Amino acid sequence: MRIVLLGAPGSGKGTQSKFLVEHYKVPQISTGDLLRAQVAAGTPLGRKAKEAMDHGQLVSDDIVLGMIRERLAEDDTQNGFILDGFPRNLAQASALDALLADLGKPLQAAILLDVPFEDLMQRLTGRMTCAKCGAVYNKYTHAPRKAGVCDVCGGELTQRADDNEETVGKRLQVFEAQTAPLVNFYKAEGKLHTVDGRRSMEAIFADFRAIIDRLA
Ligand code: AMP
Repeated sequence: MRIVLLGAPGSGKGTQSKFLVEHYKVPQISTGDLLRAQVAAGTPLGRKAKEAMDHGQLVSDDIVLGMIRERLAEDDTQNGFILDGFPRNLAQASALDALLADLGKPLQAAILLDVPFEDLMQRLTGRMTCAKCGAVYNKYTHAPRKAGVCDVCGGELTQRADDNEETVGKRLQVFEAQTAPLVNFYKAEGKLHTVDGRRSMEAIFADFRAIIDRLA
């Protein structure tokens, strides 16, 4: 299976990706995660990317495409992959099509996780992630039993540096301007599927499975 998850920041792509990885045994490739790892390790690439990330802007296409090209060359992508947070603009989407055409493994579907704009600010500014097991909470809608502590593993809950109100606003603007046009791009390719992201994680995941299980 070779799919792209499309959706605004905070739409739940990361959460669904984790379910999909578990169920289909294919890797999730998140350019956001790859970039955060580079920033944390203080690499030259991470230093270049940090400025854009701190301001909610997109990191340059050449950096992101280089990372994707390398990642898709790894062995664990043989049976497919879930792209999460990539592509983010039309140039990246075209470059991805070209790259996958070269590999003889075209994309099968782009699944849009659709969440009304009004909900996203609360989802993002309330978001907390367990540093140990990756479980995701929200201080407004899905608070942990004990503040700051993961219900699942007791790990420490952390907030992403770019989940503050100012940067979130910018990220949502960037999504509308640069990423939302991908909906029409994939519609024109006949690959777009839309899932209503306002429901429970389980209901959303059931829709994802129904779509993916019908792919060739
Ligand atoms: P995410 O974890 O997907 O929300 O990404 C966090 C930040 O990483 C974004 O706000 C961008 O600054 C950067 N980023 C992630 N993926 C991309 C991409 N495909 N193209 C450009 N920048 C990206």
